Amino acid sequence: MGKEGTVYQFGGPIGAFFVTVGCPITTYAFYFICNEDGCPSSSFLQQPLEYLTSVWPGWSGLYSNEVMMWYCAWFFGNLLLQFVLPGRTREGTLLSDGTRLKYKQNATETFLLITSYLAFMTYREGFSWSLWSYLWDHQLHLITATFIFSTLQATYCYVSSFFTDELLAKHGDTGNHFYDWFIGRPLNPRILSWDLKVFSELRPGIMMWPIINFTHLAHQYTTFGYITDSMVLINIFHFWYALDSYLNEPAVLTTMDVIDDGFGYMLSFGDLCWLPMNYSLQARYLGMHPFVLGPWGIAGVLAVQASGYVIFRGANGQKNRFRTNPDAPEVKHIKYITTKSGSRLMISGWWGIARHINYLGDWVMAWAWCLPCGFKTPIPYFYVVYFAVLLIHRERRDEIKCSTKYGKDWDKYKSIVRWRIVPGVY
Ligand code: NDP
Repeated sequence: MGKEGTVYQFGGPIGAFFVTVGCPITTYAFYFICNEDGCPSSSFLQQPLEYLTSVWPGWSGLYSNEVMMWYCAWFFGNLLLQFVLPGRTREGTLLSDGTRLKYKQNATETFLLITSYLAFMTYREGFSWSLWSYLWDHQLHLITATFIFSTLQATYCYVSSFFTDELLAKHGDTGNHFYDWFIGRPLNPRILSWDLKVFSELRPGIMMWPIINFTHLAHQYTTFGYITDSMVLINIFHFWYALDSYLNEPAVLTTMDVIDDGFGYMLSFGDLCWLPMNYSLQARYLGMHPFVLGPWGIAGVLAVQASGYVIFRGANGQKNRFRTNPDAPEVKHIKYITTKSGSRLMISGWWGIARHINYLGDWVMAWAWCLPCGFKTPIPYFYVVYFAVLLIHRERRDEIKCSTKYGKDWDKYKSIVRWRIVPGVY
């Protein structure tokens, strides 16, 4: 417990310390351990210490000024596009001080503009276009640039929260400096109308992810002279996931990250470094170790992806529509209970099957993103395991939030919708 009984999450300061140190180490470890020699590299398996000593570039070799400069150009260029491209202004949820923040939304336009430019240049210059080889050669420097940038951003948000009268996150003001820096002290840190949290959640990291995937696709082509079906599928799936989140941009304003969580190291690092560098691990693996699925493999993977997507989009869309317009024809038939706070909790439709059926859909898709790597090594399946842990932990945090917010109404909801994520299992 922190000051005035505020409850610690993530195992408090000790847990926060392990996440803070462990996540960057994991990201670097994938880079060093997964290479042309195998994933994990066979030399690493034979003599781990000798291998790591031989590939270690020294502290200065981890960093490049030039890449840091390009990363800043990417980050702030993205910000510029948010401001100059046309967009729609939407209001966020009601805050505890009775106000609502305004957000300019045009992530779809920004994403399509950037990817169209990259597609055009690739069409003109081919897969050996210098951008693709530059990104491939500088993956290590990019990890360091995003790591440093996200740490500085989190530190800025933490320090500045003491000098403004901005709203603080419910769990981010425990009084323990390190923990509050990690979990996020300010709820919606802003510089003028620029919302650092929502910007980081959606733009520089998620947009970089399909671009890094494509770097691996280009590498596969320039190295082997062909592109495998598995690589194409992973690129399409991840591109689609990013685009889908942009097409549903208003929904980000009602996610847990935006409503409840402060903006600290956890989200800043997760958004800018962890997501683009580690969610692209399957493409990185295939870029060095091509694997052909064949027609039956493609059909199987597509079936898994489609099932996951139907659940994921169906559930998230249904909640969003029900909460914004409960009289809309698609959700009019949904049964619900009205809570004392006035909010309605759906008890039929997707949300009558399990209390977080949307997580199940996301997790099923995670399998479709890993299966194209075949079964030679478990490393590309890291995402499925990590994501299961993330979703179970997230569901537990949401359970505490809803139980505190809705009290007896939540107990009633739980007695009607018994399963947490997987009906009949969990
Ligand atoms: P959810 O979209 O699952 O929303 C949870 C909230 O919905 C609850 O706090 C409650 O809020 C409301 N709610 C709960 N039950 C009901 C009900 N029966 N009827 C109506 N409203 C209900 O939260 P997340 O932000 O965790 O997830 C959004 C999506 O993002 C998910 O699909 C998830 O898989 C995905 N995601 C992906 C990640 C990735 O790295 N790929 C990381 C994190 C999330 P209220 O207070 O309004 O009642």
